[in-house]
Amino acid sequence: MSARRPPPTDPLSAAFDAARRAALAGEVPVGAVVVRDGRTIATAHNRPRALKDPTAHAEILAIRAACQILGDERLTGCDLYVTLEPCAMCAGAIAFARIRRLYFGAYDPKGGGVDHGARVFAASSCHHVPEVIGGVRERECGAVLRGFFAGLRGQGGAAPLDPPLG
Ligand code: ZN
Repeated sequence: MSARRPPPTDPLSAAFDAARRAALAGEVPVGAVVVRDGRTIATAHNRPRALKDPTAHAEILAIRAACQILGDERLTGCDLYVTLEPCAMCAGAIAFARIRRLYFGAYDPKGGGVDHGARVFAASSCHHVPEVIGGVRERECGAVLRGFFAGLRGQGGAAPLDPPLG
């Protein structure tokens, strides 16, 4: 959208590209990228509809793929970039995966589980708390989501007004 957009090697830009691919596929536009030592390990976007799997959120798919690639159940030293505040399920997976640092775009007051709702990382039952940097390029992420849902409503109001995001 802007000439100032960082180069494609920037992980959050890659996550935005993944989110746009999700939108093109009719999924809620959320993208996630796992990075370690400056290298992209895995990229994924939301696919619950395609996979008929309510757990197929971008974060879960990116974590699964990165674990397979690295041959480890834990992603120690890895950072996760997501376009939207993760839900409680994904925040739990992020903790189990031992993600070092979580960067996310827009806050999600309705469906988020990091700064809203369950606040998973603040719970005493959470055994690993990543460093969290939220609200990164928040407006850009919000615009992608709003564009998607505006498009759906324009197609005949198939989308709920306040859908869960991811
Ligand atoms: Zn999620």
